Amino acid sequence: MGQVRLYLDRELGEGQTISLAREQAHYLFAVMRMGPGDALEVFDGRTGAWAAEVAAAGKKGGTLAVGARTAPLRRPPDLWLMFAPIKKSRTDFIVEKAAELGAARICPVQTDFTNAERVRRDRLQAHAVEAAEQCGGTFVPEVAGLARLSDVLAGWPAERRLMFCDEALAGPASALPDEAGPWAILIGPEGGFSEAERARLAALPQAHAVSLGPRILRADTAAVAAMTLWQDRLGDWR
Ligand code: SAM
Repeated sequence: MGQVRLYLDRELGEGQTISLAREQAHYLFAVMRMGPGDALEVFDGRTGAWAAEVAAAGKKGGTLAVGARTAPLRRPPDLWLMFAPIKKSRTDFIVEKAAELGAARICPVQTDFTNAERVRRDRLQAHAVEAAEQCGGTFVPEVAGLARLSDVLAGWPAERRLMFCDEALAGPASALPDEAGPWAILIGPEGGFSEAERARLAALPQAHAVSLGPRILRADTAAVAAMTLWQDRLGDWR
C-alpha cells in the first residue's frame, strides 16, 4: 500500500501540531491502523504537501506533528467541469474523475431536463478530497452549489471559453480551438439539452459546440471523455 495521505483544511507549515477531528482520527487509527510515530503525508490544497508523523492517537482524536514540505502546490489548469447531476453513484463518479483528471472547479448545473433537484454539496466535496488523497494530488477542486444553467450563462465571464458537448452533433469528433486561458466543459443530463438551451448556447460567443465522437455516451462517460480531450489538446498533459 502507498503512503497514507490526508487532506487538512487549514494552512500547513513545518513545526505545527495539528489536532485531528474525530473522523480523521477514526480513519488514521481505526481504518489505517496507524499509531504514534507512524509517518504520513498531509496537504492543504494551498501550500503543497508536507511530511507528518502521528504524535498521539486516541479513539476520539489525536495529534499530528508536521515536518518538512515534500511537494509544492500543483494547481490544475483553469478548467471548470459543469455537468447536470444524474443518479447519485454516477454523479459521485463524475466528481471523483473530474478531481483526478485535473478540474479546477466542479459545478453542478440544473438544466431543463435535469433529473436531480438537489445535490449534497458536502458529500460531493468529500469525494473530491478523497480523489486528491488517493491520487497524490496537492490541490482539491471546489465543488460549487447547484445553479441553474440559465443563470450561469446569463452571467458568463467574458474571458472564459465553453466547450459545449452537444449530443446533437454526434459524429466525427470536433477539434477545439487552440486557445489557452480559462475554459469550462458543459455536459448535459440523460435527457440531453433542450432546444432553448441550444439556442442560448449558440448565442454565447465564448461557446464552442463539440462532438465527442459518433456514439451517444452516458453523461459520466462523456465527462471523462471531454476532460481527456481538453487536457490533451489545451491542458497540462501537453
Ligand atoms: N438523451 C440524449 C440523446 O439521446 O441524444 C443523450 C444525452 S447523453 C446521455 C448526456 C450528455 O453527454 C449530453 O447532453 C452531452 O453533453 C454528452 N454527450 C454524450 N454523447 C455525446 C457526443 N457523442 N457528442 C457530444 N456530447 C455528447
